[in-house]
Order: sequence, then structure tokens, then C-alpha cells
Amino acid sequence: MDPMFGAEGWCHECGTPLRDQTGPLTIQASKFPTAKAWMPNWMFDVVCLASDLAKEVQTQFPVQLRDVHKPREGATGVKQLQVEATNERWYDTQELERAIRNRHRHGGERTGLRCSACNTWKWLPISEADVATRAEALATDQAIIASPEIFGDGSSSFRHLLFREPLAQTLKTASPRLWDVTSIRVS
Ligand SMILES: [Zn+2]
Repeated sequence: MDPMFGAEGWCHECGTPLRDQTGPLTIQASKFPTAKAWMPNWMFDVVCLASDLAKEVQTQFPVQLRDVHKPREGATGVKQLQVEATNERWYDTQELERAIRNRHRHGGERTGLRCSACNTWKWLPISEADVATRAEALATDQAIIASPEIFGDGSSSFRHLLFREPLAQTLKTASPRLWDVTSIRVS
């Protein structure tokens, strides 16, 4: 996280970035999978593309890419898809709470936790398809967007991501075993 956000740019208690990404995602060489489109195993809102797929995606979609680095060696040719959070909330709070209680029945009434270090509210994890997305949040031209709502438990922290269907299909075609294309409900 330090190369991406700076040592002070993310909460070491709950794992939440506290500012926009300023530096490259940096991954040990042994952690690079052979898949064309993948997520680092500890970051559920980061999408990496092999260099040939990155070129294809960049010519077809209005996306920004960022170099992915290895420690010491620098840029690898692998690219990270840049994702911006919408200003508009994605979820109605009551619907979100209902979906989370449904998913985490053993958890009682708890739907999330406020971090005592950075004050960020993190919802317990659910998936994008578990709750209807507000139409207002989708009024954007971006091919990929992130939720302003933050999810996670313990030290995991991530935003929900949505892809326009053509981009989703491109990733699915490139790495069929890692991706499923699911439609969401819009309210
Ligand atoms: Zn925190």
C-alpha cells in the first residue's frame, strides 16, 4: 500500500486509503498470475491487465491505465485500470443494511464498523449483485466506476466496482475462469 498511497496515505488499522492513489501498485514477481485480467489477492477493487490486453482495452474503452511495478525493477508492462469513485452514493442505506443482515445472518444486527483510527465506516462485505444500485450513481460515461461506500472486515477494505457490459465481456473473454458477468439491479 505504501507505494500507492504513501506511508501516511492509508489507514494501517483498517486498510482504507485516505487519499487518491499517487504511486504505482507494486507486487512481488512471484505474485503475478498468468491470467490476462486479475485482481491482486488482497485487493478486491484493483484490476490488473497483461500488457497486450491493456493495449486492447485502451483502444476500445475510455479508461486510464497505470503501470504496475515490481520492487526494485520498476514497470512491468502490466497495467492497473484506474477506477474513480462516483460522488453519488450507490445504495439506499436501509436496503444496504437489509442485504448485509441477510448475507451475514450469524453477525446479528451489526452491519459494519467505524474504524477507531481513521473514522471510516466500513460495511460488512456483500457483493454488487446483492443490493440494487441507485440509478443516479450510474449517470456517468466511465467504463468502470467504484462506489463511495467502503466494504470490508478487519484489515480488508474495498469499494464496489461496476463495469460497462462491453468491458466486462472483454475481461471475461480474456480470463474466463476468473470473471463472471452478472447484471445488477438498478433502483
Ligand atoms: Zn481506519
